Amino acid sequence: MIVETERTLALLCPACQGTQFHEFSIFGIGHKPYPLQCRCGFAHGQVQRTGSRYTINAFSLTGEHVCLAFPAKEFLRAPLVVLIEPTFGDNIGFLGRGRDVQEAVANSDALSQSSGDALDVEDFENPDVMYAVLARLQQLAGEGKITCRCDHPSVGIDIYPEKVELVCSFCGSAVVIGASAPYHQERVAHLSEIVMEPSSYAYLSERLKPLI
Ligand SMILES: [Zn+2]
Ligand SMILES: [Zn+2]
Repeated sequence: MIVETERTLALLCPACQGTQFHEFSIFGIGHKPYPLQCRCGFAHGQVQRTGSRYTINAFSLTGEHVCLAFPAKEFLRAPLVVLIEPTFGDNIGFLGRGRDVQEAVANSDALSQSSGDALDVEDFENPDVMYAVLARLQQLAGEGKITCRCDHPSVGIDIYPEKVELVCSFCGSAVVIGASAPYHQERVAHLSEIVMEPSSYAYLSERLKPLI
């Protein structure tokens, strides 16, 4: 019996709105989280095995955290698994055999449209700064240090060639953070918290102390 050991995962990235393909060996997934990094620099998920179950942690397009669990048989062998975000039922990606995943992405309106205009490393004005800024923001987000003061804070991130925008999808407030010059990187490195004001639009700069 021939067992295919390569799996392909296609995931939508909430930061660049692109579709990123990940190929991995089934032997590469263990108890240690296997990081899924998009080409835009955003760490948009991870895969992990716990006992005989596999979990995919990812984000919906609006930046909501999504955790999907699969029995080993399905995760390792199914030709194609459609990844659905449970709250709204949106398709956020596919898992399966390479050719089946490629085909599914090509036939999916949501995923195929977004793969064309995704940002790539060369689109960034300063990739090193962008990666450092993203890494720091994701660290803060992981610690729960990026919030909005509105009733139902739901902060997502949008990436542009020279900046990133933190956007609260509930109240629409946004904070623009420059990510093209070394001093931008410095500034973000020294942030300990970002608290957004409801329904506001702000540039992260020295004069906006409330954000820091
Ligand atoms: Zn991305
Ligand atoms: Zn808000």
